[in-house]
Amino acid sequence: MNAFELYERHVNPGLAGLLRFTGLDVVEDHAEGMYVWDTQGKRYLDFLGLYGTLNLGHRHPRVVEAVKRQLDRMPMSVRVMISEPTARLAARLAEITPGDLSMTFFGNSGAEAVEAAFKLARMHTGKPEIVTTEKGFHGKTMGALSLTPKPEYQEPVAPLVPGVKVVPFGDADAVAAAIGPDTAAVIVEPIQGEGGINLPPEGYLRELRRITAERGVLLIFDEVQTGMGRTGRLWASEWEGVAPDLLTSAKALGGGVMPIGAVVGRAELFEPFLENPLVHSSTFGGNPLAAAAALAAIEVTLEEDLPARALAMGERLMQGLRELAARFPELIAEVRGKGLLVGLEFTDADIGAIAISELAARGVLTAFGLNNPKVVRLEPPLIVEEVHIQEALEALEQSLKATLEM
Ligand code: PMP
Repeated sequence: MNAFELYERHVNPGLAGLLRFTGLDVVEDHAEGMYVWDTQGKRYLDFLGLYGTLNLGHRHPRVVEAVKRQLDRMPMSVRVMISEPTARLAARLAEITPGDLSMTFFGNSGAEAVEAAFKLARMHTGKPEIVTTEKGFHGKTMGALSLTPKPEYQEPVAPLVPGVKVVPFGDADAVAAAIGPDTAAVIVEPIQGEGGINLPPEGYLRELRRITAERGVLLIFDEVQTGMGRTGRLWASEWEGVAPDLLTSAKALGGGVMPIGAVVGRAELFEPFLENPLVHSSTFGGNPLAAAAALAAIEVTLEEDLPARALAMGERLMQGLRELAARFPELIAEVRGKGLLVGLEFTDADIGAIAISELAARGVLTAFGLNNPKVVRLEPPLIVEEVHIQEALEALEQSLKATLEM
């Protein structure tokens, strides 16, 4: 049996079925920069970038080098000593995150960063409730899932963590109305990713900051997908010049080489650790290998000014997509995004599914928003060049023509 069949039999038959439908019943082999090759030698242009993880592309040499150095020194912490890369990374995060966020808890994923934020918010305020948004996505562990209001994920494992209120995304008045005496925090993505690349109205984050400050409620920005330069700023919340009380990061923080999750927050939120140092912990969280990758990723992102590049290339990509949308109005309903966080909304989810299969057949990788199957997400690495955009647009044009002919 090949690896695809083994995966189908031993890991997730449903997902394997979906990949089969998309024509991606193949096995990946190696990758570099913007491209991935399968075991048959076919090359794919990666316009998904592991949902905002591969901001530096595959195997960025400086991140790989930093990880190799750490691998030869000490990849795993003993945990009863302080690891240098971990401490340095926390200090660096304090410098590069907005406002007076100065302390970090490390996990290994976005969901773990959100779990930690959830717990810190409850511990600090002594209150149980969290306000989250419709179509918001914060992960699938029980706490994070409780903040991810999608019945298909929640109902099969109910009951969830109690105390979660759901409000429409982009509506600050609804947040104000949902806040009560038992509310600890409000959690929001500056731009919804899995929800289908939803941009809130201008001023939304500022308004949330004003409301939460006034009502004595914490504000959590989940920048797991929007962070590390993706939207044209290092953090998407910088677009509105707003600092939260807690900011979650993961995905691209590990430079596309290592998994890592972090929640960065104001010092007073970390006070529970003074009295109870092990109230929350993780064996692998912030391990030296992941921390070394993140330190290198941050330096590359800033030195190469990748946020600016994301903005320029995002404009170019969206301009091309809008031209195609105008030519194929029966297929494409809307193009939207910020920087290289781009959504292509199809008129119908089934049409979108066919179009992305056609696109995969032409060697370009994309995917749906988990919480919005009508929207195909384009999140290419920020190192993308004009030629890659051209290549993707040409393949998309051919795919749309083929979809129409079906
Ligand atoms: N928050 C946001 C905004 C995300 O987009 C995701 C992942 N798509 C998560 C949290 C969860 O991250 P992970 O899959 O690493 O647990």
